[in-house]
Amino acid sequence: MQANEGPMAAVFAAPGKYLQGRGAVGRLGEVLEQLGSTKPLLLCDPIVEELMGGTLERLRGATRVDFGGECSPEEIDRVMAAASDAGADAVVGIGGGKTMDTAKSVANPVGLPLVIVPTIASTDAPTSALAVVYTEEGEFLEYRFFGRNPDAVIVDTAVVAGAPVRFLVAGIGDGLSTYFEADASSRTRKQTMAGGAPTQAALAIARLCYDTLLEHGLAARLAVEQGAVTPAVEKVVEANTLLSGLGFESGGLGAAHSVHNGLTALEGTHDYWHGEKVAFGVITMLMLEERPAEVVEEVVDFCLEVGLPVALEDIGLEGVGREELGRVAEAACVEGETIHNMPFEVHPAMLVDAMLAADAFGRQRRAVLEGEARLPAVAP
Ligand SMILES: [Zn+2]
Repeated sequence: MQANEGPMAAVFAAPGKYLQGRGAVGRLGEVLEQLGSTKPLLLCDPIVEELMGGTLERLRGATRVDFGGECSPEEIDRVMAAASDAGADAVVGIGGGKTMDTAKSVANPVGLPLVIVPTIASTDAPTSALAVVYTEEGEFLEYRFFGRNPDAVIVDTAVVAGAPVRFLVAGIGDGLSTYFEADASSRTRKQTMAGGAPTQAALAIARLCYDTLLEHGLAARLAVEQGAVTPAVEKVVEANTLLSGLGFESGGLGAAHSVHNGLTALEGTHDYWHGEKVAFGVITMLMLEERPAEVVEEVVDFCLEVGLPVALEDIGLEGVGREELGRVAEAACVEGETIHNMPFEVHPAMLVDAMLAADAFGRQRRAVLEGEARLPAVAP
């Protein structure tokens, strides 16, 4: 994507419009009208019907297709054929990350307007021009870069707050990485997912994401556990979705996401979600970067407060040794990984040590906060 000559231009990418609030999905018809659509294809998670309070039935001319469960080339082809059979003039993806990514992969190659309606706030995928494609068996296959963001993203906070709290907390974990990764990328000016150098705007948005999560994360978690939509929930949902989405796409990724990708190499982590593994990746990244202890403490204590992983045992890796962590580190450092956006060269051996240090720090802070253990004095 980069031109052959001259410095790389900075690029800022965003969806055409972002709507968020209690009942916001009720604006779907109006948004489609503005896009000139009279025959939208609705790609839905099977359970969304009841969440949407009749909005979908009221859409005239719409064709509904249930999502098959995996964002795979086969599923993309199937939905594409359904869109063509129906003569669809827009695609709406309603549901979780894989539904959204399938909708992106159907609309973009044929140039149809695209609306994304996330029903959970567990990642920052909704606003981006990027899709992650898997095999039918659920193994990572490829990233698809479309160069075009959704025309509109509609987040109904009543729907999101009605989902199990683990989704919101995982989204906080994903959002926690955005500032640190954008900060690293802005220093190296490596190409971001938006296809250019990082922008100041994205870095400022990423910082706001971090500050918002730290200030309102706990209150939002507690409210969502009660199914309540409060101003704190609105702020955190915006941070997880919009601020983190803009921040990562145009601000750049770094070590935390590579640690996440590396961790997927170990079977034990498979029951843990993207944002949960990213949270441990953030703590590892802080160790790698030699951030001041107070920054590491701030992040670790926040993770403990909202219920995010701080140690290997929290992501299914109790008792793993250097050999297994070596596999994680090798996978995290392969060519093309965003860990190479860091301002210094990262070797797998450094990463193993950073993971061990993060794990020890996380366990120690937990013990201290639980009032169990101060470190014993070092024996003479
Ligand atoms: Zn992420």
